[in-house]
Amino acid sequence: MPLPKPRPAEAPVATREPAAAKKMPPADHGKAADGKAPDGKAPDGKAPEQAAPEPSACRQALTDDIAIAPSVPAIHGPGACGGEDLVRLEAIVLADKRRVAVKPAAILRCSMATAIADWVRVDIAPLAAGFGSSVSDLDNLDSFQCRGRNGVPGAQLSEHGRANALDVRAFKLANGRSISLTDRAVPRDLRESVLHSACTRFTTVLGPGSDWHHEDHIHVDLMERRNNYRICQWDVLDPLPVVAPLLPAQRPEEAPPREVAAKDDPKGGAKSDVKTDTKSENTKSKARKPDAGDSDSAESKRAATKSQPTKKRRQSRRP
Ligand SMILES: [Zn+2]
Repeated sequence: MPLPKPRPAEAPVATREPAAAKKMPPADHGKAADGKAPDGKAPDGKAPEQAAPEPSACRQALTDDIAIAPSVPAIHGPGACGGEDLVRLEAIVLADKRRVAVKPAAILRCSMATAIADWVRVDIAPLAAGFGSSVSDLDNLDSFQCRGRNGVPGAQLSEHGRANALDVRAFKLANGRSISLTDRAVPRDLRESVLHSACTRFTTVLGPGSDWHHEDHIHVDLMERRNNYRICQWDVLDPLPVVAPLLPAQRPEEAPPREVAAKDDPKGGAKSDVKTDTKSENTKSKARKPDAGDSDSAESKRAATKSQPTKKRRQSRRP
């Protein structure tokens, strides 16, 4: 049975000075709510760091067969931030013993780490197998962070502040491909499968369409709400239509300065040249673009290529 690793010397906010004893014990709000002390905490509010806490049921279940997730010290504060029974989720171990590296490692409550591990092992790994590959990395954008929701100071505490949330940008595959969860280019049904699995497992799922904070990642957490209310807001967006690049093609270096022909049109003969050209030759684009009038071949080629995307774009707007 794996036991929690010993506390690292550089552990943050771990030791409580005697002077701090006057302060409210961090678990008091929990006790007031349900009359029970959280796992591993003596009912008198004694700091659990003093005595080696009994490993929680979650901790005992989260073995090396499931995840590489050493225990880390509880975090108390600032404010309501922090949590007990924390782990550093470094990797998820798949059924075939392959590891999915969590990059960077995520600080999470044991229960949240377990939920992430189950999600990857049971739901994500088979999806990757469908692609003829296996999951190699979980691209972690954010785990524990003491902050308000969406990073807004003073806002209600984010579940990130309780080590109960994870922001996932992508799953990387062993074959070098990547399932970027908010990328419209990733097959829609694959993203929908991830959406359904996430919304089944987590009580909050936020992605594109929820608010502008979640356009490039998926937020999952295990927030507990009244009546088991859940939030699943993730618009799986269709690929954008293939349209011409919005910026014009790079002007060739050898092209003559455009202004001369476009604005000043100093040579009266230039325009008539265009007209005769148009009639005799097939350069339609020249006719529409006076600045291509007296140009060399580079300029007219450019004008020709430029006219094409415009057409495509117009066509694609029609149903
Ligand atoms: Zn988040």
